[in-house]
Amino acid sequence: MPSRLLSSDAAVLLAERVRGDVLGPDHPGYDAARRVWNGMVDRRPLAITRCADAHDVAAAVRFAVEHDLPLAVRGGGHNVAGTAVCDDGVVVDLSPMRDVRLDTARGTVHVAGGATWGDVDAVTAPQGLAAPGGVVSETGVTGLALSGGVSHQRRRDGMTIDNLVSAQVVLADGRQVRASADEHPELFWALRGGGGNFGVVVALELRVHPLGPEVFALNVAYPVADARRVLRGWRDLVAGAPDELTTAGLIWSLPDVEALPAALRGAPYVGVAGLWAGDPDDGERVTRALRRLAEPLVDLSGVVPYAELQRSLDPYFPAGRRYYWKALYLSTLADDAVELTVGRSEQRPSADTLVIIRHCGGAISRVGAGETAFGDRSSEWMLSIDATWSAPEDDDENIAWTRAFWDAASPWSTGQTYFNFPGLLEDGEAEVRSSYGAGLDRLARVKAAYDPDNRFRLNQNIVPAEGLSRVP
Ligand code: FAD
Repeated sequence: MPSRLLSSDAAVLLAERVRGDVLGPDHPGYDAARRVWNGMVDRRPLAITRCADAHDVAAAVRFAVEHDLPLAVRGGGHNVAGTAVCDDGVVVDLSPMRDVRLDTARGTVHVAGGATWGDVDAVTAPQGLAAPGGVVSETGVTGLALSGGVSHQRRRDGMTIDNLVSAQVVLADGRQVRASADEHPELFWALRGGGGNFGVVVALELRVHPLGPEVFALNVAYPVADARRVLRGWRDLVAGAPDELTTAGLIWSLPDVEALPAALRGAPYVGVAGLWAGDPDDGERVTRALRRLAEPLVDLSGVVPYAELQRSLDPYFPAGRRYYWKALYLSTLADDAVELTVGRSEQRPSADTLVIIRHCGGAISRVGAGETAFGDRSSEWMLSIDATWSAPEDDDENIAWTRAFWDAASPWSTGQTYFNFPGLLEDGEAEVRSSYGAGLDRLARVKAAYDPDNRFRLNQNIVPAEGLSRVP
């Protein structure tokens, strides 16, 4: 029978069961520990368990289940909707679990469940190797991986989930299982796109690929007045590009940094950015036409260490600001879709808002829709609307602008959302249905088998299929 806990009880009782620290509302570190990357998120858990190991994870999960408390899982804390924290429940915080070990013989990297991409790159990049992950080093590996994972080298090496070899998972009943192609294969299938629905991943193993240490990074900014011409030209040039070339077209504002002439700082621009994952010496030639789509404001393209490229965007996505993001896959990037993107971007309420169209395809689309839970990969283009602002009084305007843009884009949408970016879970059910499509029933069966009571539900939630029971 679940018991009601006073806020101070939960942390005290849980602390008796784990090695790591447990922070309740009375703890001096509580407010810092409940904060996540998105400054809009303000939730008050009963207890935050800083897990030292998988045993702590299992103990915290069992505790939440025993007391029928909401359960949140925290990796890098970068989920835009703030799903890493909950009100009146238990946070399983894996941020102390960040070990990374490279296994060159297997061609994989073993990553603890709370590691960030910076932790991984620090181990792999000096060896000229990389696991395809996020483009901001502070994002968590596991949170990003479970919903897909689009990297700078995604067209050559696929999504992060395409490189998942195995995962150690603590289930809702506290048991730990290993999921791979041979062990718990249905769970392994579901983890590759199904998000945090099935348990807590305490460790995963990812395939690594030769890349760097030096790479050619493309980064050219044109006047925003040329946005239509530049985005159309970029689209046409990259349509037949080799897999080594992964790019995006974007509308943003130039940063206020000394490296730029004063007149350009803060100016809106249309950009073409990306990575040539082939020989860096070929990068200049391969990207030349992309750097001449109009007269550039500034062209910062060149050869850089991969690890540096991976950290270069960090300052532009600081923790504590206000963020509301949405991303959808486009069936086509026809001229009218470019027109919509440019027109809406011109009206964005905040100059800090980024609108970016990622070129996908390549290795991503060579994986069949049924092979992973991620589903359909046929779209070549992902439109991401990343509203970013500072003042709480501007919330309504920025959220309304994002939603209106999203609605206006629906004629070009494949119906599939990229689940790593949604800023709130408010219309989750419809998006889960349209995004997983044919795979949803299978996901619901795996959910019923591994989390029949839907304990892991602070996510793009998959409701367990009815009438099915746990598998051994
Ligand atoms: P958290 O908020 O800690 O976790 C998010 C959710 O993931 C949790 O609520 C839980 O459901 C699940 N989860 C996390 N860890 C575990 C675990 N160990 N076991 C089980 N479930 C877990 N995405 C891309 O694909 N490519 C990018 O380049 C990229 N760049 C980004 C840059 C920024 C600045 C931000 C904010 C996001 C970016 N994202 C990117 C999106 C990112 O993948 C998601 O926000 C993701 O949820 C972040 O994972 P996290 O561990 O940091 O988040």
